[in-house]
Amino acid sequence: MLKKLSNSIYYLSNQNDKDRPTLGLVCGDQYSLIIDAGNSTQHANDFLREIEKLHVPPVKYLVITHAHWDHFLGMNEFAATVIVNSETDDVLTKWRSYKFDDSSLEEYVHSNQMNKMCMEIIQEEIPNRANFKLNSPDIIFEDRLTIDLGNKVCILEKISSTHTDDSTVVYIPDEKVIFLADCVYSTTTNSLFHYKQAMLLPMIQDIQKYDADMFLLGHESICDLDEMNKFWKELTTASKAVTSTSLDHAIKSFKVENNRNPNDDELFFIKAFVNDYIIQSNKF
Ligand SMILES: [Zn+2]
Repeated sequence: MLKKLSNSIYYLSNQNDKDRPTLGLVCGDQYSLIIDAGNSTQHANDFLREIEKLHVPPVKYLVITHAHWDHFLGMNEFAATVIVNSETDDVLTKWRSYKFDDSSLEEYVHSNQMNKMCMEIIQEEIPNRANFKLNSPDIIFEDRLTIDLGNKVCILEKISSTHTDDSTVVYIPDEKVIFLADCVYSTTTNSLFHYKQAMLLPMIQDIQKYDADMFLLGHESICDLDEMNKFWKELTTASKAVTSTSLDHAIKSFKVENNRNPNDDELFFIKAFVNDYIIQSNKF
């Protein structure tokens, strides 16, 4: 079932066991806009069935927040104008050349072009894969795009992100709601998870310039302003402690600076920033 955030904003919660991210729906007087297409045909259709029950204005736009498979593989199911930023489009171009039969999928996993979870979800949740081919986006923007759905403005912006270089957020000013998708998360390079330290402060700045009370995240659904501020504080405090590839040194420096041990979240962030140092210094 869709969760109702206001008279014009709904979302389908993330489902971690199926690697399904949060999907959003914003409704104006004339049209509706969807945020992210889901990880498969089945995910997209589950979402569409729920939307049908609401009797909202027709879905005219679909925004794909970034080019991770779990956010775009359901895109063919929507009869909507698909909007992406130009960097997302670059990655999708590669995916449009992919075939989806079993032996092709296995080959992509073998050559690290696709992860195993992605292959399994495709096999389970995209029927008729023999001729499956990903559609092209319809609108490609560079930095920012404003859409009016009929007395309901949505601002799309490509922002700095610790997760990917192609992160789009969707802000609805009159509701003070922002869809962040995965942009505030860590990322994985060569099987090592890491938080891109250089992007942390520019990202927080990019997000805080929006006057928002509610923040929808790709794999956690929703945070209020207090939760978001706590998250920023833990991230920045952890980041300040990391100045080298040494985890020991970072933890010691955290304790000296804050007069306490890091909590579990902070410890995870410290490790992720240390891993980023390792990647940046090419020692991995
Ligand atoms: Zn992602």
